[in-house]
Amino acid sequence: MLDVFTNPVTPFAQNANLLVCQTTKQAVIVDPGGDIEKLVAAVDAANAEVKAILLTHGHLDHVGAAKQLSETFDIDIVGPHLGDKFWLDALPRQSEMFNFPMAEVFTPTKWLEAGDSFTFGDVTLEVRFTPGHTPGHVIFVEHTTKRVFVGDVLFKGSVGRTDFPGGNAAQLKNSIESEIYSLPDDYTVFPGHGPCTTVGYEKQTNPFTSGRFG
Ligand SMILES: [Zn+2]
Ligand SMILES: [Zn+2]
Repeated sequence: MLDVFTNPVTPFAQNANLLVCQTTKQAVIVDPGGDIEKLVAAVDAANAEVKAILLTHGHLDHVGAAKQLSETFDIDIVGPHLGDKFWLDALPRQSEMFNFPMAEVFTPTKWLEAGDSFTFGDVTLEVRFTPGHTPGHVIFVEHTTKRVFVGDVLFKGSVGRTDFPGGNAAQLKNSIESEIYSLPDDYTVFPGHGPCTTVGYEKQTNPFTSGRFG
């Protein structure tokens, strides 16, 4: 079974999630955007052994601490999809744009694709490909405890922006409908910003996908 500890990081309050296998204490960090000390403290508090960093997409508020953390723990960076390489290559420019500490360019140990999975301890995450907010966005589904980590694809009552380079609103809507709304209603959705929600609640009420606003 899986424990999840959510740590809002960076001035954008990005939810860096520490996922810990209850039986083995092996763990991953999904989207470590910044505030390294806070994340290291969360790992210590959970008595966890971090095995990898997983990334949903290449935006700075999701990846800003990835390189340094991978060196601190001597672990791999896994994801996002190759389609977001241009965002990772632009990290120094993203740092200037958002007035963040300078983030160095890095290349993940492994790019992810639809149909991949990642296992740590007794926990397996299914990788789904969800372009639209960025062209290389992926999400992670944990079926045993019915959780999905969606980055900036879907939020409680909202969806990800599509006005950045490589964004595509029609593609985003399609990704949400085919890759998230295809999950059972009782799956808990962990967005990259703001509170958790469920697949069923968003399916019924989300104004950006319910068709109410065309
Ligand atoms: Zn983003
Ligand atoms: Zn974000």
